[in-house]
Amino acid sequence: MALRFYNTLTQQVEVFTPQDGHTVRMYTCGPTVYNHVHIGNLRTFTFQDLLRRWLIYRGYALQHVMNITDVEDKIIRSAMQQGKSIGEYTAVYEKAFLEDIDRLRLQRPEKLVRATEHIPEMVDSIEKLTAGGYTYRSEDSVYFRIAKFPNYGKLSHIDFSGQRAGARVDVDEYDKDDARDFVLWKGPKDGEPSWESSLGPGRPGWHIECSAMAMKYLGETLDIHTGGIDLTFPHHENEIAQAEAVTGKPFARFWLHAEHLMVESQKMAKSLGNFYTLRDLLDQGYAPEVIRYLLASVPYRKKLNFTFDGLRAAATALERLRNYKLRLETSRFTDGTDDGVLSATQKAREAFDGALDDDLNTAEALGAIFEFVRDTNTGMDAGQFRSGNVQTAAALLAHFDSIFDVLRPSLQEGGLSDQEVDALILERTQAKQSRNFQRSDEIRNLLAEKGVILEDTKDGVRWKRK
Ligand code: AMP
Ligand code: ZN
Repeated sequence: MALRFYNTLTQQVEVFTPQDGHTVRMYTCGPTVYNHVHIGNLRTFTFQDLLRRWLIYRGYALQHVMNITDVEDKIIRSAMQQGKSIGEYTAVYEKAFLEDIDRLRLQRPEKLVRATEHIPEMVDSIEKLTAGGYTYRSEDSVYFRIAKFPNYGKLSHIDFSGQRAGARVDVDEYDKDDARDFVLWKGPKDGEPSWESSLGPGRPGWHIECSAMAMKYLGETLDIHTGGIDLTFPHHENEIAQAEAVTGKPFARFWLHAEHLMVESQKMAKSLGNFYTLRDLLDQGYAPEVIRYLLASVPYRKKLNFTFDGLRAAATALERLRNYKLRLETSRFTDGTDDGVLSATQKAREAFDGALDDDLNTAEALGAIFEFVRDTNTGMDAGQFRSGNVQTAAALLAHFDSIFDVLRPSLQEGGLSDQEVDALILERTQAKQSRNFQRSDEIRNLLAEKGVILEDTKDGVRWKRK
């Protein structure tokens, strides 16, 4: 079965191929860097990482752009309170965001772009909208005239007909089911940053940021636009209006929205105070892979209820997979190949791939892997699993891990990377060959201190982490 995604625009699961058959042009609304992101935000970004990996596995090239919102109401307020420029203020959180996504092993998009570095593109977009009669000016600000764009509401499937025209909203975020003319360019206010432009001095609204940058790097029609579900309205609806009013072409073919991470039936949110940052959880001793596992384990269109029990269950599940991998790598099996095990391996792989093709059903994909692990563990106990089955089973686990990326333990502070361990082992082997036993013992002890256990076998040295 072909690769399929649920498209918010059509409210249907549809077969996905990129428009040019080769490269997926994808845009993701990135973080507003006014604070540390919380694990709710990171759930959405983890979904996007899995999506990236699966598209690449399915043979597509990716051109993925994510914005960094580094000018926005909350940023300006916080920077002013601290007496900092917005650049000084956001630099700290942008860096922290990149550290967080690296820790969670989220692949970086091909392009990460800052809003403040694209003001001319936004002004140009607003000029084009103005030329088409889609804007009006009130005092020093420029607004989008929703009444002029009849398709407004097509993404969020809200019927806005009968709304009063001309009501305006100036703030970047609003969430009432109310179509209000939104601000494109905000006139300058005392002490706020502003840019000179053909529209007069001011700063861009949040919504114009994304459509202007997306079209600059990805063209007028994107293959996929993603974000958290809360962005559907008004942010994405506004992006569609801004883009399509100018181009007359569909702005994005597929809209993929991640459901929320919840805490006790409420959305995890900064404003509700019910959030954990990645740092909070790492400080409590949870490994990044365990958090990644938890965030990846629930399909992205289902709400994920965050609990510490859930986090501990994720740790246990991951431990099971690691133990299985170790058993596979270190046990001695009888020669030969068992056909039953072989076909179970193939079946698991088909089920895994089929589940991810089906709108990235990660729960079902994990289910296939765990069924396989359970059955072949039993096969190992019964002596049915043979040495000829090791390679295909290991390949299945490697395939799983190329998407989920959880099996490799993260380095502890001061720990050694796999490459460093390999280099030390090579040095030790050479030391032994030249009968420098003092050095070889030293290396063994150093590795032991760092939690690496060596096993000398007739086929060479094997190692594992404690
Ligand atoms: P923001 O920095 O607030 O613009 O949010 C960054 C991303 O995180 C957006 O795609 C949001 O939709 C998403 N997001 C915010 N809260 C949650 C949550 N509780 N669960 C999942 N995604 C969220
Ligand atoms: Zn956006």
